[in-house]
Amino acid sequence: MVCKKCSEKPVIQLTNSPVQLCRSCFLRYFEKKTLKTIRKYGLINYKDHIVVALSGGKDSLSLLHILKKISVRKTDITLSALLIDEGIKDYRDKSIKDAKAFCKKQKIKLHIVSYKTEIKKTLDDLKKQFQDTIPCSMCGVLRRYLLNKHARKLKATKLATGHNMDDESQSIIMNQLKNNVALSARLGPTTGIVKDSKFIPRIKPFYLLTEKEIATYAYLNDLMFDFNECPYSIESNRFEIRDVLNNLEAKYPGTKHSIVASFLEILPLLKQKYKNQKIASCTICKEPASSGICTTCQIIQKI
Ligand code: SF4
Ligand code: ZN
Repeated sequence: MVCKKCSEKPVIQLTNSPVQLCRSCFLRYFEKKTLKTIRKYGLINYKDHIVVALSGGKDSLSLLHILKKISVRKTDITLSALLIDEGIKDYRDKSIKDAKAFCKKQKIKLHIVSYKTEIKKTLDDLKKQFQDTIPCSMCGVLRRYLLNKHARKLKATKLATGHNMDDESQSIIMNQLKNNVALSARLGPTTGIVKDSKFIPRIKPFYLLTEKEIATYAYLNDLMFDFNECPYSIESNRFEIRDVLNNLEAKYPGTKHSIVASFLEILPLLKQKYKNQKIASCTICKEPASSGICTTCQIIQKI
């Protein structure tokens, strides 16, 4: 087999397609598809200050890499990165090192915020204290809270995440299984339902790309420093759903794409249905909350 476009040796077979591409045709395909998603969903506008939620993993590093290329051409855009250090021994330390090295090389300003300084405990401490609680359920809440709060402090107009088609299909199914349609209304290439100055809109330029494609892009750009996964991820519900969807995808190619594509068709209706949701302020920290005390302050109270 040869590359579909130029007859060179292929490096990847595209998802849901017999098409194989060589290194340079694949890199072009990947960047074009990201740009197409940005344009189609209006993810980046004139004079945006984009803060990339950086973890040091392949997804967020690839995203920062591609947005840096865009910002060199589109000089009205400001780009910086925000990393949340949860305090997970032997995992986060390594990815922080990779993130720092990358940002230094690319001349991107990197801001690091840690659980330890913000809530006085690391995630490892929380795991010891709340042994019956799945770490991801606390970590997800704290991460989202800190990303929004600090992106706003940095005067970001967009918070960009490396979420891809695999992540989105998992989130859609997880919400369905929990009968939480209201939560699904917040998904999509740009998240949120109602505009509120306290919420920094989140954008997902890799929305229509798969994990395999991002891994290949990261590998070809020397961004895949080390493959290490959070040690707590295996305890999460998402981990199980990921396995189920991967098995379904292997048996019925195109499953994840179908989940996301059909979801995109009903998403405008969901956003319309939940558009009158009120956003209140947490009575303790004043950050956005659905009512009363926000979930982060509830965790802090338990600590
Ligand atoms: Fe936090 Fe779970 Fe992600 Fe680990 S896998 S960083 S515990 S949300
Ligand atoms: Zn609060």
